[in-house]
Amino acid sequence: MDHFQYQNGRLSAEDVALADIAEDVGTPFYAYSTATLERHFQNFADAFDGLDATVCYSVKANSNLAVIRTLVNRGAGADVVSGGELKRALAAGVPVDKIVFSGVGKTDHELADALRAGIAQINVESEEELESLSAIAQDLGLEAKVALRVNPDVDANTHAKITTGKGENKFGIEWTRAHEVYGKATNLPGIRPVGLAVHIGSQLSEMQPFRDAYVRMRDLVAMLRADGLTVERLDLGGGLGIPYGDSAEPMPTPAEYADVVTEVLGDLGVSFTFEPGRVIVGNAGVLVTRVVYVKEGATRRFVIVDAAMNDLVRPAMYDAFHEIVPVAEPAEGAQTSPADIVGPVCETGDTFCKDRALAPLQAGDLLAIRSAGAYGASMASTYNTRPLVPEVLVNGGEYAVVRRRLEVDDLLDLERQPDWL
Ligand SMILES: *Cc1c(COP(=O)(O)O)cnc(C)c1O
Repeated sequence: MDHFQYQNGRLSAEDVALADIAEDVGTPFYAYSTATLERHFQNFADAFDGLDATVCYSVKANSNLAVIRTLVNRGAGADVVSGGELKRALAAGVPVDKIVFSGVGKTDHELADALRAGIAQINVESEEELESLSAIAQDLGLEAKVALRVNPDVDANTHAKITTGKGENKFGIEWTRAHEVYGKATNLPGIRPVGLAVHIGSQLSEMQPFRDAYVRMRDLVAMLRADGLTVERLDLGGGLGIPYGDSAEPMPTPAEYADVVTEVLGDLGVSFTFEPGRVIVGNAGVLVTRVVYVKEGATRRFVIVDAAMNDLVRPAMYDAFHEIVPVAEPAEGAQTSPADIVGPVCETGDTFCKDRALAPLQAGDLLAIRSAGAYGASMASTYNTRPLVPEVLVNGGEYAVVRRRLEVDDLLDLERQPDWL
């Protein structure tokens, strides 16, 4: 079920009308639904009931502390990709034995922080990183539990900017070399190899790429074990797609995904880690924005809103489709006409949709950009000196501002004039 529905003609998040939140916090703002977060997490976790599995929510999808904590209360761990995210995960109360750290460019400083925190696993993506980590672990007198991230060289058939498992991508160790590197890791001081990790991309809409990658993992595990090496864990990454409303094809469900995992890898006697991000939070959030002007161009109608690409970059960056609906329910049978919904930023790419059939709109109306819970607020910037917008978490009939709106003065306060000016 979807927790963003019209109630008495007013689009609501659970039992709170978005127009009431807009009145309170101004626009634009992100609103998240606790019930949706919990339901999506539970769905995913339940799908893997039959396996020894830990679900480490991928913090980069939506890194708000209250969002993380909501999931932690349901049993989530965290997948982090920077020292900043590690700090967030710890601040949100994620148990250290459920934190994994991925990423191609972890600095010495970040690796040391991860070791000192005592997290469950560091997913190492190169031999260079392995050597650095070994040196740092020895310095600290600690042991690093390491999974080697393998690049399985499969095409995830998703947007080029979020494909991560092809040979040409920067991620992971070539699968043909993983065997050799794993052997080397076993002999490095301060390193304890515990298994393999893989993450082939995001917004995957089919099972075949997962299957292809996991078959390679299976072969690798067999090879390593044949050499007498220990493989206790497999980290299978994230990447499961969500419906954004632009495709008639249904998205694969966590249950279908779990079937593939069980079929290909279920008998290996390993424990599993999953790193879902988008599938947990994507449809748990909307970005609410207000129409500033409706401008009749020579050839098109532009609906200019107060949100922009700096608040939600997905359409500009990935040509992503987002469903956009009026917050006040249109009258039944209301005429629609095509319009482009655009933000005020000085870039043509600042376009949320083109030629979308929309009910009549006028300045002051509110719109909700749906499926904005993942890679929305977490990718926002202050381009055009537009302060970050608030994030609001709804829970039943209650809501709380879980990140306040920044003010322009907050931004200016970060800057200093040099002596010579
Ligand atoms: C981004 C990322 C994820 C999460 O991907 P989703 O598509 O949001 O599920 C998981 N693991 C790693 C290593 C990532 O970089």
